[in-house]
Amino acid sequence: MKQQIYWHTTVQMPDDSKLTPIPEKVDVAIIGGGFTGLSAARTFAQQGLKVAVLEAETIGWGASSRNGGMVLSGLKLPMGTVIRKYGKELAKKLYQYSLDSIDTVENIVKAEKIDCGFARTGHLLAANKPKQYEALKDQVEFMAKEFNHNVKLVAPGDMQAEIGSNVFHGAIADDNSAGVNPAQFVAGLANAAEKAGALLNARARVRKLEAARSGKRFVVETERGTLSAESVLVATSGYTGNVTKKLQKKIIPIGSFIIATERLSDKLANELSPKNRMIFDYKHYLNYFRLWDNRMIFGGRAAFFPENENTIRQSAEILRNEMIHVYPQLKDAKVEYAWGGTLDFAFDMMTHVGELDGVYYSLGYAGHGVAMGTHLGKTVAEAMMKGNVKEHPFAGIDFPGAPLGLYDGRPWFLPFAGMWHKILDWVE
Ligand SMILES: Cc1cc2nc3c(=O)[nH]c(=O)nc-3n(C[C@H](O)[C@H](O)[C@H](O)COP(=O)(O)OP(=O)(O)OC[C@H]3O[C@@H](n4cnc5c(N)ncnc54)[C@H](O)[C@@H]3O)c2cc1C
Repeated sequence: MKQQIYWHTTVQMPDDSKLTPIPEKVDVAIIGGGFTGLSAARTFAQQGLKVAVLEAETIGWGASSRNGGMVLSGLKLPMGTVIRKYGKELAKKLYQYSLDSIDTVENIVKAEKIDCGFARTGHLLAANKPKQYEALKDQVEFMAKEFNHNVKLVAPGDMQAEIGSNVFHGAIADDNSAGVNPAQFVAGLANAAEKAGALLNARARVRKLEAARSGKRFVVETERGTLSAESVLVATSGYTGNVTKKLQKKIIPIGSFIIATERLSDKLANELSPKNRMIFDYKHYLNYFRLWDNRMIFGGRAAFFPENENTIRQSAEILRNEMIHVYPQLKDAKVEYAWGGTLDFAFDMMTHVGELDGVYYSLGYAGHGVAMGTHLGKTVAEAMMKGNVKEHPFAGIDFPGAPLGLYDGRPWFLPFAGMWHKILDWVE
């Protein structure tokens, strides 16, 4: 088994072989070169703005080229909770954004002819326990009544049409969701942004960000030079660091890990996932999986801490066991790749858009950033150009910090949170 991001073997990722000098002056500087930053950059550049993406590593290096490639409807929080917290009117707008986000990915893929296997094969949320199936039944009715959104209930006896596994107790399927190869998509998005005129700068870690003395332009100091920018957008997701300290303190970086098996036979692949769904379970400590090129791509929050050699090795073993539990048919399948990445959770598990000390941000996708990052990158850029970011639906919710301020950006509480989630999965 290689500790390598399988997706990277399927596409030529942007590299650092041809670094261009950092521009001196731009309209917009974007920190972070993933879905959010690149989608925003494409949008600004299409409107003729001079925009520079500043990426610490190489373009697409972060979660955007490492994820499960699930282009999902909905938010991390159940929509019932969203209604309770923010009211029906805002909840409807936020849900509509999640549906629009899938369209945005599809539109970009089509307009830019990005070869990334985008397909609306739908998602499947599978119940781990019988009583969860009862909750899913309620959800189907609730989503139809409150959001006019139809999802299908899959009874326990009908699961074989959806998944070649006996461990689940029914599911709901949403045909709106899609799948992509995330590395191919982010590489294509980078090309599209560049073609529109955006300046993409790899190895340009931002070290310091300050409003210039006049109070008008930002001075953005990178490891390869300094530039002045009219406005700044932070798109650093789970890799948000102390350059934007106040934002860092609002974001919990959480590791997520994936294994990819060897290529399976057509027959076996078809048996495991006959509709090629994006599948995830109901657990707090959840697993998510799907096929790509007849490989089983099986992910989970196997370790809570971000990726390193140890967490990847340990997670690969845990994930292989989980995978075999779901699919005993894979007990002899070779696991060829294992990797990890970091995603971003806000303390309220919601996505947040807004302005802090004059700097704009779009963060906190909580595992929904393939679609949402792409869509919010675009819509936040549009709102910045119109000067009405405050009216963006995701700017309408408060962005909380840690309870009692007990967090400085180093998530000391993650082992406890991990344990807590495991306990909840056991007792609930
Ligand atoms: C293993 C895994 C599986 C996932 N699966 C799914 C899925 O199936 N579906 C889904 O919707 N979401 C999924 N996600 C989440 C999704 O990948 C992210 O929400 C999304 O990629 C975020 O995109 P982004 O552009 O905001 O951030 P990223 O792609 O993480 O990019 C942020 C970039 O900021 C850069 N950066 C940080 N600090 C600085 C600095 N000071 N200067 C310059 N650059 C800086 C980093 O180097 C990084 O490249 C998954 C995530 C992981 C890790």
